Amino acid sequence: MNVLGKVLLAFLPDDLESVIKFALLFILVPVVFLTLAFAGPITAVEKIPLVSYEQAQMYISTAKKVSESTKNPYSEGVEIDWKQLVAIDAVRFRQDFSKANSQEAEELAKLFIEKVGEVKVKEGDEVKVYPIYRLRSLDEVLNILHFSREEKEKVKEFLSIDFSALLDYAPSVPEGFIPIEKNLKWPLPGTYTITSGFGPRIDPVYGVERFHSGVDIAAPAGTPVRAALDGEVVYAGWNDGYGLVVFIWHSSSLETRYAHLSSIVVKQRQVVRAGDVIGYVGSTGKSTGPHLHFEVRIGGKAVNPLDFFN
Ligand SMILES: [Zn+2]
Repeated sequence: MNVLGKVLLAFLPDDLESVIKFALLFILVPVVFLTLAFAGPITAVEKIPLVSYEQAQMYISTAKKVSESTKNPYSEGVEIDWKQLVAIDAVRFRQDFSKANSQEAEELAKLFIEKVGEVKVKEGDEVKVYPIYRLRSLDEVLNILHFSREEKEKVKEFLSIDFSALLDYAPSVPEGFIPIEKNLKWPLPGTYTITSGFGPRIDPVYGVERFHSGVDIAAPAGTPVRAALDGEVVYAGWNDGYGLVVFIWHSSSLETRYAHLSSIVVKQRQVVRAGDVIGYVGSTGKSTGPHLHFEVRIGGKAVNPLDFFN
């Protein structure tokens, strides 16, 4: 018998009561533990609607296109709600909207319309047929898709989120953005991928509308972060949602902030020069992955950092 077998045998009890206790201890406890360990993160992730501005626009135009197709001189047509399409796909794709495409979105949108009749009109020599549609309810469509009760609830949970901020927010960062350094130096030299611009957005962690007070610059964890301007460190340490963060005062009214750092290499009250390394990129605080949250404040009010680099 091998060693493992001997060890197991030593643990194996002889009477029924002990067998049950043994089973509870070695099977049930790990199962409960693993369930608790994994349920937490999964629930948290599923609350995040990861739809981007561009993806939302795709659903909006698809809903509009299919809605338009139901209009004719004899019918006002129906109005499909793009938010319902997004909520359904958020559940279908388990939040991974990279799987979304306009063709499938159109098929989904078409499930919301049902032909209920037609108007035949003689126009000149030919007879023209105008279909009349009705709008299917969300529940009808969810039934067609064979959604479970749990999935239906999830769709409705997503619909309780206010998507309006997405509509107002056009990404302010053009593709291939390269900062032009005038008064401020770019805090991550050579790294210019902005994953989230300044302004209102759907919060990637809590899924509700929030104002994004800075720009998020994607960079691998450990990338050095540099001071944008000469100044004095007024705060260096942990601050709630910011995680590890450095606040630098440059003048009586200008301040810059560098958040979600993995480590900080400056101290409070330390004087820094533009370009000095102050810490390293990380994902501390309220963050979904390594990036630098860079913020510029004038008189305490957050302004668009990119305005200093155009
Ligand atoms: Zn940010």
